[in-house]
Amino acid sequence: MLKPRQTRQLPASRGVFRSRLVEWFETGARDYPWRRTHDPYAVLVSEIMLQQTQISTVLRKGYYLRFLEAFPDIRALSEADDAALLKAWEGLGYYRRARMLRDTARAVLATSNGNLPEDLDALLDLPGIGPYTAGALRAFAFGKPAVLVDGNVSRVLSRLMDFHEEVDSSAGQKKIWSWAKVLADEQNPRSYHAALMELGQRLCRPKHPDCHACPVSDFCATSAPELLPIKKTCLTTTALAEHAIWVCNDRAQILMHQEQGSQRTGLWKLPIRDSSAVTGLELLTELKYGITRYRVTLRVYQVPVDHPIATPKSGDEWVEEGQIAELAMAAPFRKAIKRVI
Ligand code: SF4
Repeated sequence: MLKPRQTRQLPASRGVFRSRLVEWFETGARDYPWRRTHDPYAVLVSEIMLQQTQISTVLRKGYYLRFLEAFPDIRALSEADDAALLKAWEGLGYYRRARMLRDTARAVLATSNGNLPEDLDALLDLPGIGPYTAGALRAFAFGKPAVLVDGNVSRVLSRLMDFHEEVDSSAGQKKIWSWAKVLADEQNPRSYHAALMELGQRLCRPKHPDCHACPVSDFCATSAPELLPIKKTCLTTTALAEHAIWVCNDRAQILMHQEQGSQRTGLWKLPIRDSSAVTGLELLTELKYGITRYRVTLRVYQVPVDHPIATPKSGDEWVEEGQIAELAMAAPFRKAIKRVI
């Protein structure tokens, strides 16, 4: 079926565009826990969680509400120790975000008495808050005029404006943000911005956009939405193998490793050894996972406690098997350990 034709121009008819979009949103908006609050701290937590993690993952197992339960306000988060913080973030990946969120909380406590500021420049001065997060806080927490562009909004705007340049180049982003600014609804920022993002999630999807259900299809300039947005050539993925060892001593303790000196500092995993060292050992389990541009195959080998590679190295520690569940751990290792146990 052909996409509906464009009959209205943007930004000239932006008033009708905004009201059509908001009307569509208000009659069928998805109910997310972060939409039930205007508490700036709770909005900040949701925005940071959603930056590199899909909505379905954040909703699954109640990660968002669980985090807010563990750290209900700025002060509680600012006082969190590494172990509790990483444990509350477990399963969401990109653990650097959790520490950055705590840095933000500490800065807010030090500079604004624990209250996130409404002012755009004051927000941008805080660690971990960039233009998108600052805009989201202004719109969703404070109901103030804002400009914000995420991946969904980039895609929707590139199609609405039939933009045939790379959206992820600095020139492309400048253009997209300038359109976002011109179109933004200053009277109704909460609903408008949530509506534009939801349009990208529900209808203006990366593949198979549903243009016939789209409330703003008559403003949309592209005739081939599937070809947009244009992006810089993706980096190719690189395959990697990780060789983890499962060693149990005569006190029923398991050899674990706590990461140091990386973005995952403080997280636990099974000790890793060279591929040459695990030759001939019994393979207990194998699973695959993706991280940034790497496709990793994680293999876990059974290793007798008196084997040379079972000797603890720096960062390795014996842990009671029953305590492993309490350690903060990246999801692939948690899954591998569950399988082994
Ligand atoms: S779904 Fe996207 S591409 Fe399709 S008409 Fe709406 S804005 Fe345009």
